[in-house]
Amino acid sequence: MATHLVWFRNDLRVNDNLALAAACRDPHAHVIAIFIATPRQWLQHEMSPRQAEFIWQHLQCLHTSLAERGIELSIHQVDGFDESVEYLKNFCEARKVDALFYNYQYELNERRRDAAVEKMLGREVVCQGFDDSVLLPPGSITTGNNEMYKVFTPFSKAFIKRLHEGLPECVSAPKAREGMLTEPDKLTAFDYPLQPVDVNLFPVGEQQAIHQLRQFCGQPVVDYAEQRNLPSIDGTSRLSAYLAIGVLSPRQCLHRLLRNHPQSLDGGTGSVWLNELIWREFYRHLLVAWPKLCRHQPFIPWTDNVVWRQDETQLMAWQQGRTGFPIVDAAMRQLNTTGWMHNRLRMVVASFLVKDLLIDWRCGERYFMSQLIDGDLAANNGGWQWAASTGTDAAPYFRIFNPTTQGERFDVKGEFIRQWLPELSSVPEKYIHTPWIWADKQPLTLDYPRPIVDHKQARIATLAAYEAARKPQ
Ligand code: FAD
Repeated sequence: MATHLVWFRNDLRVNDNLALAAACRDPHAHVIAIFIATPRQWLQHEMSPRQAEFIWQHLQCLHTSLAERGIELSIHQVDGFDESVEYLKNFCEARKVDALFYNYQYELNERRRDAAVEKMLGREVVCQGFDDSVLLPPGSITTGNNEMYKVFTPFSKAFIKRLHEGLPECVSAPKAREGMLTEPDKLTAFDYPLQPVDVNLFPVGEQQAIHQLRQFCGQPVVDYAEQRNLPSIDGTSRLSAYLAIGVLSPRQCLHRLLRNHPQSLDGGTGSVWLNELIWREFYRHLLVAWPKLCRHQPFIPWTDNVVWRQDETQLMAWQQGRTGFPIVDAAMRQLNTTGWMHNRLRMVVASFLVKDLLIDWRCGERYFMSQLIDGDLAANNGGWQWAASTGTDAAPYFRIFNPTTQGERFDVKGEFIRQWLPELSSVPEKYIHTPWIWADKQPLTLDYPRPIVDHKQARIATLAAYEAARKPQ
């Protein structure tokens, strides 16, 4: 009897898991599974303790779901990627593995690790990888010149055209494999800082994620086009945390969307949300086409010449939500408290750090990863490079968000601000986006900082810094 090993990484689910389904296809094969935690690697990536906790909780769910199907999941911990390659080799030898099944990860180090594994296992073990965390494989959507798109809109059009030609199919969870369950491993938590996750915001479990997807694809996805930019409304799916660690697949999202709203591919209801799923794909495809993005290099080379300010005090004020700009501070407090931030606000705070404080976008990228429950290199790097005007399809560098008017536009009455900044509760609605003006008229001082920069002056300084960087040296 052949032994098939499924190597779980960022795909912690049993439904629509291409590697798992392929490993189980032969009803006579003995299927086992492994997860190898690599805390040193996680530290290098600044993975947030909340995301580590979310992974840990979902590993426990996965352990149970697999055990119910007669599949034993072993959870191990080594230091970094090099050790994981060695560990896997020994494991395959000890368990007499004939074939290894895994879903691709597209980050540079992960791809190098997988290449090392394939090389090390040689002909002894047949390795099979799958494009599971994307709707369409990176490299499959290209321009007429067979190159990756550098701009989102034509990529998105070509992407939708391909979906019209044929949808990627979902695969079912494997059926129980009778008589093959060995004693499930005891689970010991891994050696990495863990931080509790708010289960009201992010309920744990694959079924919970599927339930949330179904709910969202009802009325909320219809309202999404209008509400998605309003942070005081729970108008987005909040599925990013599940997608980031693979508790949910993008195919499940697509099929559920099309089932409820078949016109989503043709610009009808649901198409705005579909567009966001395609942004996710775009950034993943970019990572593969330009691996330098994984090394946090800017896509536009000249932007590397920008002379950034080194200002620890201001960086810390931004991180702690004490910049004096209410919408920025409320957003940062939401991030620090929950591990999640609304998309509109991610753009606002990123723009503020880079374009108002002129602090290197990589400082923000790192800080986001250290806090986000949905931290994902491709989306995070893409979002930061977009905001910093250093990436593909980036906003032109002279387009700079005004943090006050962004607040006035997207949190008109200041409801979101009041939720996260209780110290502004006494400030009237008229001044909620400019509390310093109100504070100047009061006898008592407000326990809230004055703006740490003058937006107009900062804008001029940033334009000059980008302009200087753009000129030939
Ligand atoms: P929805 O609006 O419901 O969108 C559905 C799904 O589409 C999301 O769950 C996500 O997987 C994907 N998606 C939506 N918008 C984008 C986008 N702009 N780029 C890529 N994928 C998208 N997203 C992450 O998943 N991880 C990150 O680390 C991350 N960092 C970001 C950093 C910055 C500076 C910016 C501007 C954006 C970042 N995003 C990131 C993208 C986006 O903000 C989040 O995906 C979104 O806010 C998650 O909320 P949701 O699940 O309710 O999204």
